[in-house]
Amino acid sequence: MTISRKRVLSGMQPSGLLHLGNYLGALENWKGLQTEFECFFFVADWHALSTNYADTSRIREFSRELLIDWIAAGIDPERSTVFIQSRIPEHAVLHLLLSMMTPISWLERNPTYKEKQEEIKEKDLSTYGFLGYPVLQAADILLYKPDFVPVGKDQLPHLELTRELARRFNDIYKKPVFPEPKEHLTKFPKVMGTDGRKMSKSYGNTINLSDTEPVVRQKLKTMVTDPARVRRHDPGNPDLCAVYDFHKIFSLPMIQEQINTECRTAAIGCIDCKKLVADRVVERMTPMWDARARLNQDPSYLNDIVTEGSRRAGEIAKETLHDVNEAMNI
Ligand code: SF4
Repeated sequence: MTISRKRVLSGMQPSGLLHLGNYLGALENWKGLQTEFECFFFVADWHALSTNYADTSRIREFSRELLIDWIAAGIDPERSTVFIQSRIPEHAVLHLLLSMMTPISWLERNPTYKEKQEEIKEKDLSTYGFLGYPVLQAADILLYKPDFVPVGKDQLPHLELTRELARRFNDIYKKPVFPEPKEHLTKFPKVMGTDGRKMSKSYGNTINLSDTEPVVRQKLKTMVTDPARVRRHDPGNPDLCAVYDFHKIFSLPMIQEQINTECRTAAIGCIDCKKLVADRVVERMTPMWDARARLNQDPSYLNDIVTEGSRRAGEIAKETLHDVNEAMNI
């Protein structure tokens, strides 16, 4: 007897190279979900257009890098369906159909719409596509009728809009086509960048999964520390140091304790402290680098994963769209 597992769906935009913050926040979580759920993970390349429509020159490269990072980090294509959004035209069709019934006020009240426009001033985001991207997101989710969508607290309003659209569709067409997906709340650990701010590609302070060992070591070497610790014999405060935040993630509790004490008494210098954490980071990243190298040597393997994943996802998307068309008399 086969027991059907609950379904989970999540995606990422190919708008840059993945970094340690993405790995510890999202990929580690995805990896764990695979043991319990039927997982669908997709590269949201059409989504990337909502903010990058004017420059698509690296979108294919970033999509490929994203897939390599996922597989290298432990996403298993035998257990999970891995695909690219633009290979499944049903995403665009459902987006169009849902957009016909989405009140504009629902989109205008989306907090990230205004926030992002403020944040990314250098791009013209006063577009129809940017306003409507939560509808595309709803289409991405509802096509696969997942039980859960992994989200951080800040993304809950988007998922709520997806649920509202599912309800609205079911109410208007009097057919329970779309179940309402629930949130699978994900805690994202705070990962600091090399400048002491949150690790983010927009700050240019990231350690990328595709960085080589010398680059990672160099980045950690130049990472900011407690600003009050100017000279070697000055005592430091690990609570104010980005390097210590890395120790909290990568070092054993015993070592964390030791550094906590030795930093406060100036028994350890920052150079040695950074070297210790760099060794742990390199240790953690080495299996991913090895996997990346293998994947880069065999491009057909990656193509096969995406072809098979897109085929599996496409079958489900077609079935859902059939139900949608039936409900809408189209
Ligand atoms: S010794 Fe380590 S924890 Fe203390 S300030 Fe230097 S780098 Fe930070």
